[in-house]
Amino acid sequence: MISNWGGNLDFGTDEILQPGSIAEAAEIIRSGKVRPIGTKHSFSKVVIGEGKLVGAAGLAFEPVIDEHNSTVTVAAATRFGDLAVFLEENGYALKNMGSLPHISIAGAAATGTHGSGDGNQILSSSLVAFSYLNASGDLVELRRSHKNFEACRLGLGAYGLWVSVTLAIVPSYQMRQDVYRNIPWQVFYENPETLTAAGYSVSLFTKWGNSTIDQAWVKTRVKDGLPPSEIAGISADVESMKELLPGVADNLTEQGGVEGAWLNRLPHFRLDANPSAGDEIQTEYFFRRDQIVGAIKAVQEIASEINPILLVSEIRTMAQDNAWLSPMLRGDSIALHFTWINDSEKVDRAVELIEKVTAEFDPIPHWGKVHHFEKEQLTKAHPRLNQARELFDSLDPEGVFNSEYLQSLGVRS
Ligand SMILES: Cc1cc2nc3c(=O)[nH]c(=O)nc-3n(C[C@H](O)[C@H](O)[C@H](O)COP(=O)(O)OP(=O)(O)OC[C@H]3O[C@@H](n4cnc5c(N)ncnc54)[C@H](O)[C@@H]3O)c2cc1C
Repeated sequence: MISNWGGNLDFGTDEILQPGSIAEAAEIIRSGKVRPIGTKHSFSKVVIGEGKLVGAAGLAFEPVIDEHNSTVTVAAATRFGDLAVFLEENGYALKNMGSLPHISIAGAAATGTHGSGDGNQILSSSLVAFSYLNASGDLVELRRSHKNFEACRLGLGAYGLWVSVTLAIVPSYQMRQDVYRNIPWQVFYENPETLTAAGYSVSLFTKWGNSTIDQAWVKTRVKDGLPPSEIAGISADVESMKELLPGVADNLTEQGGVEGAWLNRLPHFRLDANPSAGDEIQTEYFFRRDQIVGAIKAVQEIASEINPILLVSEIRTMAQDNAWLSPMLRGDSIALHFTWINDSEKVDRAVELIEKVTAEFDPIPHWGKVHHFEKEQLTKAHPRLNQARELFDSLDPEGVFNSEYLQSLGVRS
């Protein structure tokens, strides 16, 4: 049986269909229920359904750069890391990437995958257009100006199989990554921006219950100047660190302030290595920036209950975004992430506890990670969920892409 990358979900089948042409993909869609699948890096049941699993990796074509409009058009199933290598070879770059380059562009867009940076939106905000096979097996192109674009660019594979994407690109740039250790939580409590605005993209890694944040990773574009010489009197490491999680060595992009190309500094994990721990479950919640200190203090109170199954937590920021199902639709946000050991029962208990203690701070879960939110709560969290559901239902009236899980979220009827 095929399972997801983290190993916490069984897809209930030993087959993923990878059609080699649009015609073949259309034929599969016309023949019955399907669920689109990317590189299987999600931890929630977004991929799972009653239909056949269908990937778009067989629909690959050579990327095309449009210099005049500063865009690249590429197959939707392309991994971010492969596109990044192609762009760098041609003198271009993406504005932002997630922590790992191994995920597909379509799969990342479908769950609202984000990187970090006070001014950086979720990754699909770079989309200028995309094409997909609809429930009738017909190819449809949506451009930014289309009325359905913002509804469909974060769509959990609920209405079609993405085939190609056109993304905005920028000239290639150099970056550096600097790590500061043991920063007092008090510095964050007094003003989170002291840390989150310290670079172009900042990630804070920690466990809970201590007086300090274990590590701050500050990613700086060289053209923006130098990173802070000190944060709260603490200087950055002078050498690159070799591991983030115990026992997982040497899978990180280079740190220690060494300058390098954007694609080798923006993601935490190297494309040629296994990202993170590999046998794990992830959870993440988004908060408005002015509610994060309260939420963090609430999580500190349950440190002794979550630390034993926690590999590491990460805190990142994202800018406001207009995708209908984006957790950032309500404004600039900050995310609290948990990488757990792969023990679903224990993780479920921890997730329940976290959702209980942070409830008053209006968390919104990541669509691709483990959470316990259902339709009612999600409808409150996502003001356009009902509209999105009506649209997806109207685009796929026979329910070709529908699944029980999508229904439980309120994304399909
Ligand atoms: C180690 C690790 C690190 C991570 N880091 C981050 C991070 O930094 N930031 C973050 O936000 N998330 C992160 N994630 C979560 C991950 O980015 C998301 O779960 C993402 O959706 C995975 O993409 P995928 O290609 O594996 O898609 P899958 O998990 O295979 O599918 C996800 C969704 O996309 C849909 N889909 C896939 N392909 C298509 C297609 N061709 N057409 C239509 N729909 C499609 C599926 O139906 C499903 O709904 C991380 C996950 C792991 C394992």
